[in-house]
Amino acid sequence: MIANRMKSLTPYVPGEQPQDGKYIKLNTNENPYPPAPAISKFLKEMDITNLKLYPEPTSVKLRTAIAEAEGLKPDNVFAGNGSDEVLSFIFYAFFDADFGPVLFPEFTYSFYPVYSAFYNIPFTKVSLKDDFSINIEDYLNRKTTGMIIPNPNAPTGVYLPINEIRRLLERFPSDRLVAIDEAYIAFGGESAAGLINEFDNLLVIRTFSKSSSLAGIRLGYALGNEKLIQALTTAKDSFNSYPVDYITQKCGELAVKDAEYGNDIAERIIATRKRFVAAASALGWEILPSMANFVFAKKPGRSGEEIYTRLKKQKILVRFFNKPGISDFVRITIGTDEEMETLLSAIKTF
Ligand code: PMP
Repeated sequence: MIANRMKSLTPYVPGEQPQDGKYIKLNTNENPYPPAPAISKFLKEMDITNLKLYPEPTSVKLRTAIAEAEGLKPDNVFAGNGSDEVLSFIFYAFFDADFGPVLFPEFTYSFYPVYSAFYNIPFTKVSLKDDFSINIEDYLNRKTTGMIIPNPNAPTGVYLPINEIRRLLERFPSDRLVAIDEAYIAFGGESAAGLINEFDNLLVIRTFSKSSSLAGIRLGYALGNEKLIQALTTAKDSFNSYPVDYITQKCGELAVKDAEYGNDIAERIIATRKRFVAAASALGWEILPSMANFVFAKKPGRSGEEIYTRLKKQKILVRFFNKPGISDFVRITIGTDEEMETLLSAIKTF
């Protein structure tokens, strides 16, 4: 009964979501602050009869709001049910085994190999430099169907400067996709969205989960040349016509229109990150330079698993990746100042 193709799937395992509320949750890069106030007002006052109808299938108002904020056209914007779904459509629509493997960094978002397996696309993990940064030269002069890199990278937090992305686009074949996953760009990096009018093979992927504090509603989007967006729409309409529900479209639109609030909470997280990095470094921790709402950190002499387990006993959740090369590290989401103080008190006892 179960199809043979299922045998080759190893699903992605998300970070724990304990339901008892007893943990300081620093394991899934959620935002510790509430979503924009206009969203609370909308949800309290929403006319429930709107839910009788199917949502607008292309999220046109949301896409228009995003386009205005980016100086692009609505035809340059594709909206999906979380950026995970957008990424899945990207793997389906643009990566073709006939042209070679898809390239992504050796240590990166662990969903990429899962999509590759789902769509039967071979992949090549491209090594990082010793300091965990990306060397664009390593992505050039290869037989490939295209590439995807998060910027900043996850789980390292390391940022690739925008001029490096430009140099990559100038030299990568223009008939192969360059996808830049900007899930964490709001926390200090410069977006590649400004290069979209120059490079037809560039897609930028973003999410409302982190910077807009909306992980619970599942909303993500891609920005790119309208031909790329059309291909994503064809993929979507061959799978689910209404992936983004009415409530989510509206919440996303309100979040985009209140950019000031989003910038404000991002600034707070950046400030907390700086304070935490300084304090943890003073305690002998080694932390990779991060431009994200998390840090990748290790304490010499301790394994990542030991750190994870000790903190969990103290009701603090961080993320541990049991992979050779990064198994000394834990990924710590930046929470509120108070949460990070509690974490610092806990690690002082190490
Ligand atoms: N890309 C990266 C690099 C991520 O870390 C995440 C979060 N797990 C996502 C995409 C997916 O985000 P979401 O589906 O919540 O939009």
